[in-house]
Amino acid sequence: MNDLSANRLKVLAQIQMAAVAAGRDAETVRLIAVGKTFPAADIATLYRAGQRDFGENYIQEWQRKAQDLRDSCPDLVWHIIGHIQSNKSRVVAEQAAWVHTLDSVKLARRLSHQRPSHLPPLQLCIEVNTSASTAKHGVAPNEVMVLADEVAALPNVCLRGLMCVPTADNREQTVAEFALMRDLLAGLQQKYHQVDTLSMGMSDDLADAVAYGATMVRIGRAIFGSRS
Ligand SMILES: *Cc1c(COP(=O)(O)O)cnc(C)c1O
Repeated sequence: MNDLSANRLKVLAQIQMAAVAAGRDAETVRLIAVGKTFPAADIATLYRAGQRDFGENYIQEWQRKAQDLRDSCPDLVWHIIGHIQSNKSRVVAEQAAWVHTLDSVKLARRLSHQRPSHLPPLQLCIEVNTSASTAKHGVAPNEVMVLADEVAALPNVCLRGLMCVPTADNREQTVAEFALMRDLLAGLQQKYHQVDTLSMGMSDDLADAVAYGATMVRIGRAIFGSRS
């Protein structure tokens, strides 16, 4: 077995252990393999090993890979997990299945407008800036509901949940941000019953994220290796 497949199995085992420790069913946690900076061939290898969900940050890089993989990986599910500039929204609306980084009404409207009607609705998570850092993308926790109300009224998108990238400096802070996300999701679910997704957890904080209710973990380095 090559390294990528072995790494993937290790991550799946970590998810399994974290889920059991949290009293959760591991089936409720979906692994998104984050391939930024790595070649399409690596994604194809993982696809052949059974991986279907892949995340990408940079639209141009993603476009090249998506083109390469279109024929060989027909069931591949693309998740956009990087900031989307308005002028890049069309390819996302046309070719992605999920956007984890919705951060404005304007972007939501564009994505809905540009989503081809023959495709299922684009699945959206609102990115939350859990650290109140102005350097980060995402909306403030107290702005989530306002944006959710706008998104819920749009025709070709489906609001599925929330996503965050916590501040990485210490575990205590990270866990506090995960707890905030769990509470925000619970609030959103009171109003919107289709909301079921908490996208959080990366290579270094996967277990804590699962403990706090993550349903999608976005794993790069633990599968692909370190980025140069
Ligand atoms: C790069 C990235 C990941 C994966 O991070 P790793 O530490 O490599 O697991 C997850 N989410 C986002 C938004 C990223 O940019």
